Amino acid sequence: MPVINILSPHVADMIAAGEVVERPASVVKELMENAFDAGAQNVTVEIRGGGAPYIRVTDDGCGMAPEDAGVAFLRHATSKLHDERGLEAISTMGFRGEALAAISAVSHIELLTREKGSAGGTRVTLTAGDIQDMGPVGCPEGTTMIVRDLFYNTPARLKFLKSDRAEAAACVQAALRCALGRPEISVRMLRDGKEEFFSPGDGREDSCVYTLLGREPASSMLRCVSEDEGLKVTGFVSSPAAGRGNRSAQYFFCNGRYIRSQLLQAALEQAYKNTLLTGRYPACVLYLDLSCASVDVNVHPAKTEVKFSYEKKVFDLVYHAVLLSLEGEKRSAAVELSPSTKKAIEPKADFYRSMSAEDFRRSGYTVDKGRPAKPVPAKAQTPPAAAARPDFSSAFASLHSSGGAEQTRLDLSAVQKIEKFEKKVPDSTEKSDEPVEKPVQNVEKPALPDYKILGETMKTYILVEVGEELLLIDKHAAHERMNFDRLKATDRQILSQTLLSPAPLKLDVGDAELLEQNGELLSELGFEIEPFGETDYVIRAVPADILASDAVPAVEEILEKLRRGRAPDAQSARDEILHTVACKAAIKAGWDTSDRERERIVREVLSGRVKYCPHGRPVSAVLTRRELDKMFKRIV
Ligand code: ADP
Ligand code: MG
Repeated sequence: MPVINILSPHVADMIAAGEVVERPASVVKELMENAFDAGAQNVTVEIRGGGAPYIRVTDDGCGMAPEDAGVAFLRHATSKLHDERGLEAISTMGFRGEALAAISAVSHIELLTREKGSAGGTRVTLTAGDIQDMGPVGCPEGTTMIVRDLFYNTPARLKFLKSDRAEAAACVQAALRCALGRPEISVRMLRDGKEEFFSPGDGREDSCVYTLLGREPASSMLRCVSEDEGLKVTGFVSSPAAGRGNRSAQYFFCNGRYIRSQLLQAALEQAYKNTLLTGRYPACVLYLDLSCASVDVNVHPAKTEVKFSYEKKVFDLVYHAVLLSLEGEKRSAAVELSPSTKKAIEPKADFYRSMSAEDFRRSGYTVDKGRPAKPVPAKAQTPPAAAARPDFSSAFASLHSSGGAEQTRLDLSAVQKIEKFEKKVPDSTEKSDEPVEKPVQNVEKPALPDYKILGETMKTYILVEVGEELLLIDKHAAHERMNFDRLKATDRQILSQTLLSPAPLKLDVGDAELLEQNGELLSELGFEIEPFGETDYVIRAVPADILASDAVPAVEEILEKLRRGRAPDAQSARDEILHTVACKAAIKAGWDTSDRERERIVREVLSGRVKYCPHGRPVSAVLTRRELDKMFKRIV
């Protein structure tokens, strides 16, 4: 007959400890959150070994009075929540009052704390949750919590820890997430005496991202800001060219707390649709700011999962914010350094830099080193609309210079001015009832900068001179994007061409089934494929842009994509098929390209409409005069 025992509070605490304290990294997180809640401005985190032997967190927050210092380790001891009403709107990182109880149950603890304004401090030592020693001590204002020998009394848990290296890395990652969530708090992280990272705590999201994630990822990120009815999202997202192999660089914060959220992840990735290669993931640091009442963080003890009251609203806000910054790429500034950080990390100039057409359009008006820009000399014959061009020279001067290392913040008002102006300028290719003087042939639309096509190299890259810069365009990538956008824009059936001689297609059973399943979609997109026996088919017609010789490869490629599960729903199946059609219909590297085609591509790129191929590769790169001069040591 089993006997029922009531567990002692000590054993109960050890069990509960497992929920909050899974590994040293969880201790780092809990102690840092306590420091943040205490109003600290500066926090130092130090670990030794994998964290289990030694974790120290020191803050300059409010500290604890002597009578609170011992009580803090009791279960459900918290100063942050008084009654159940408080649970509905939690604004602090902690509130459950269980972290210190749980941690102290499975370690040796030393606490030094001094309340703000108090003459002296208190020192408390605990072993397995029991106070060993408590008394006055001299120490600075704030709190230092030292956790030694974590899990020393729970061998089973100790056994499950990974190598010191892996545990230490998890501690650093946990600390980094905390630090990234609170740009207004300076965090220093030490591991075995060496500094792992330091965030300046100047309250700026950009310097926080830059110092914590590093120059390389940060410099390819685009700013993101959006607000709607009390919901606000700010932060940075990666440009499509900087896709990652996994999601580890996606950081979401809700009211300063790092969270995992499939909802936010889906909203983010949805915005990258058709600009990012399948299997690549965007990076982001997004800060969600919403009223504490509209989010429930009390879902799990670790508090990394949250529940939003208005999921759809949150999804839409994030989706549109990201979309907006991708569309306005380069209109929003990339991560910028604070002057002090800039000094600390002197970036090397990149020789080749991918650049959006938007930049190019402007680059015709800017000169190096941020000196006031000289407008590009007007063409001999200027269309009447361009003659009325207002003076933007001061506005342009404030736009960033072309040096990759010296990006400065864009003056948004200047950009808006330019955009407004462009809208007013009649498009010479569009029919207009107004008697506009017929523009002289070959005169650019006023929106395009002066450019000269120099030629093509390796039958792949078109070379264009734009002001003081050399633009290189990947003709296939650019044309592919143009095709894709055109195909996607047509809601009518895509024009189909009947092949002179139908192309035979041999499939295995699986592919034959896929073909049948997607038959309707394929025919809507211009493919006409008929069965010709068990698993034999003939292709009778293909989309008009595809060469007859590409009919079979195109269908095979589409089936391959469908087979690999790249298209879980109808919309993505459609997009995947359009990718293939756009790619097959595009002029290829290695082909001869006519002057007219070349001109058309260059103008599309310069207009800013074409930035990335449908897989997210950039279509253009630039070599500035400065970069060339450096290459040839004209300047150092
Ligand atoms: P919670 O954070 O959920 O309140 P904890 O067990 O983490 O629970 O902490 C218990 C209490 O100890 C806190 O509510 C706070 O009053 C106090 N405390 C813990 N760490 C600090 C600190 N670094 N500075 C000041 N007070 C602290
Ligand atoms: Mg806490």
